[in-house]
Amino acid sequence: MERAPDAPIFDPAAFRLTEQEAELTARAREFGQKVLAPRAARWDREASFPTENYQDMHREGLLGICIPKEDGGLGASFRAYCLTAAELGRYCGATALTWNMHVCSTLWTGALTEDLEMDAVTRAEHRLRRRQHYERILKDGAVYSQPFSEGGAAAAGTVAFGTTARRVQGGFVVNGKKIFASLAGHADYYGILATEQHDDHKLSRRDTLYLAVPANAAGVTVEGDWDPLGMRGTVSRNLVFRDVFVEEDAALMPPGLYHQAATRWPHMFLTLSPTYMGLAQAAYDFTVAYLRGEWPGTPPVKRRMYPTKQIAVAEMRVMLEQTKALWFQAITEAGPDPSKEQVLRAWAAQHTVMENANALAAKAVRTCGGQSMLKSLPLERIYRDSRCGSLMLPWTAELCIDRLGRDCLYEKGETDT
Ligand SMILES: Cc1cc2nc3c(=O)[nH]c(=O)nc-3n(C[C@H](O)[C@H](O)[C@H](O)COP(=O)(O)OP(=O)(O)OC[C@H]3O[C@@H](n4cnc5c(N)ncnc54)[C@H](O)[C@@H]3O)c2cc1C
Repeated sequence: MERAPDAPIFDPAAFRLTEQEAELTARAREFGQKVLAPRAARWDREASFPTENYQDMHREGLLGICIPKEDGGLGASFRAYCLTAAELGRYCGATALTWNMHVCSTLWTGALTEDLEMDAVTRAEHRLRRRQHYERILKDGAVYSQPFSEGGAAAAGTVAFGTTARRVQGGFVVNGKKIFASLAGHADYYGILATEQHDDHKLSRRDTLYLAVPANAAGVTVEGDWDPLGMRGTVSRNLVFRDVFVEEDAALMPPGLYHQAATRWPHMFLTLSPTYMGLAQAAYDFTVAYLRGEWPGTPPVKRRMYPTKQIAVAEMRVMLEQTKALWFQAITEAGPDPSKEQVLRAWAAQHTVMENANALAAKAVRTCGGQSMLKSLPLERIYRDSRCGSLMLPWTAELCIDRLGRDCLYEKGETDT
């Protein structure tokens, strides 16, 4: 029995999506259901990278979803991207999450930088430089990753990155180590954050550089095992950079711009959530189909007539609707210089999606019962993958709560001493 085409997570008419959003989400849903879903168990079982998915996504134009139209991409806005990514996350969490790392290297350098301040010469140079990166993606299917984490407080946004870039003739020399580097050994370029090292002062977050290091550059090595609980297809091994030379053109943003982006466009960190919005929907979809006796490959046993199952599904639906509503509002109001209220809402949305995706998956397992957690079915993978969401810096579930608690009670500059 084949599954009928899934309904949209966000119905275009009900949520008043733009034409572009309706078209992209429909494409992603069809692609996800037909291409990603049947392969997802393999990447998970093998903890292997979904290379075939990337070849197909290149063919579909999805690697260039956020590349501006004038540079040959699909020119998706922040919200259009988030909605599309949620549809992919519904069918393969690891593909959607790694695709997010790739897409951010174009969204953050593209639409987002248009909202930031640069003098005219710097902007012209930035537009020229990013075009080289975009061309590699569109023509050659080059894949970019986003290894920022180092195991300390830098990825949490509180101290400077320990990975350094020293300016030399024609470029930079990079030294350092990144942990949890999704797409390690599979991306063509590692889009790292490094602190520009000046001889005369200590490392500062203001000097953060965003550099695309070619995976085959001398001095780049991939290290460590990869055998985690969930999101196994992300292949997030460690990356080590030892005296790696990169050319000036490796800069994905001009000096100082990443710091400006992180402070003026904070919703940029909400981009890890769409995958988990998709997983939340997937947990609900599975439960409904399973209880109706309609999940392919399972006996057509109906369980929907039991009041306890109905109550559980009702509770899941309430949680799903709450999650969707808050997240949709947060991605809708993303933009430069948000108000304090909007930032609080973004943290609340991130926390809600990341925690509720796993809560919904846990409830789905309990409600569907023992057979539903067999590895022949997707639910147990959704359960494990969804567990990873609230751990992702800089907006882990804990850090969202820390910041919400502080900023709900204190205005800027207020202390109790
Ligand atoms: C499947 C998966 C894929 C990932 N892919 C990537 C990727 O591609 N790129 C990438 O950059 N990262 C990636 N990450 C890493 C992720 O974003 C985190 O950096 C990582 O999970 C942190 O691990 P940790 O054990 O060091 O966490 P933690 O110890 O929780 O956090 C690290 C540090 O952050 C600070 N911190 C944490 N919590 C608090 C708190 N409550 N208050 C104050 N400070 C705090 C502390 O300094 C702490 O030492 C991935 C993670 C997973 C699970």
